[in-house]
Amino acid sequence: MKERIYSIPLSEALEQDCDCIMCQVAKTMEENNLDYFLGPSMMEPECRMITNNRGFCPRHLTALYERGNRLSLALMLDTHLEEVRGRLKKRSKLFKMTGFGSGGAKKSVEKLVDDLDKIVGSCAVCDKLDNEIEAAAENLVYLWDKEKDFRDKFSRSKGLCLPHMKMVVKASTEELSGKSLDEFIRELMLLENARLDELNEDVHWFTQKYDYRNQDAPWGNAKDALPRAVKRLGGE
Ligand SMILES: [Zn+2]
Ligand SMILES: [Zn+2]
Repeated sequence: MKERIYSIPLSEALEQDCDCIMCQVAKTMEENNLDYFLGPSMMEPECRMITNNRGFCPRHLTALYERGNRLSLALMLDTHLEEVRGRLKKRSKLFKMTGFGSGGAKKSVEKLVDDLDKIVGSCAVCDKLDNEIEAAAENLVYLWDKEKDFRDKFSRSKGLCLPHMKMVVKASTEELSGKSLDEFIRELMLLENARLDELNEDVHWFTQKYDYRNQDAPWGNAKDALPRAVKRLGGE
């Protein structure tokens, strides 16, 4: 039996009439995760091993810094920097062995790019967040399947942004099969296509409002069409 710990936040997000309930849940998860890494867990050896090894992506580094818990961040970065220095020094030694200008150097340079890719591209917050969001996507499909009230409200909601739609579609193949999978995909597509039709219409009217002949015509729903399109296509 899988843990269904995201049922409450998902149902609450559905009540709030937001643009994407997964974005809403993900936002809270991200805040909680930033607090988690800056909180007491930062002193636990197991957690520190993860942060030393994985570090943080540029976005989450900035977010952690802006949270203001300077000592926690400094302690984590102190030991993470040791790890980074170790990795780069190891690479330098290999460079010395192959020679900086020799034929083998190109391969070593590629490996150095790999090292840097891993350092810059890996993130302890993203890892934890990815796992949790994936579980929430599975939870959403489960609720849709098991709770009629959730299903009804979801079908009247604003649907999902495209990145979360992809995630939920993937999760549905894990959670459902046969007729219920067919039904889920059909209903989801109906909802998403209808929302995209409305959005496209609003964005189109937004562009038309720049025509001087439409100057005095009412905006309708087009005024905030652009930020809504950005969120729908890219998530929040
Ligand atoms: Zn979303
Ligand atoms: Zn990250």
